[in-house]
Amino acid sequence: MAERACPRCRCVTFDKVCPLCKTETSSDWTGLIVVLNPDESDLAKELNISFPGRYALKVRK
Ligand SMILES: [Zn+2]
Repeated sequence: MAERACPRCRCVTFDKVCPLCKTETSSDWTGLIVVLNPDESDLAKELNISFPGRYALKVRK
């Protein structure tokens, strides 16, 4: 089973609906990043990530 990613907040999940923002997830995504401390990560700020977790860099709907 392939992992999916949310096109809105980029959260990576196995669910068909994003657990964070309830948007329908997509199986077409690239670039996994792991955010441990969103407050201390410039990349997380750039991507508007505010919760620790695994995220995709690019998600296509
Ligand atoms: Zn989401």
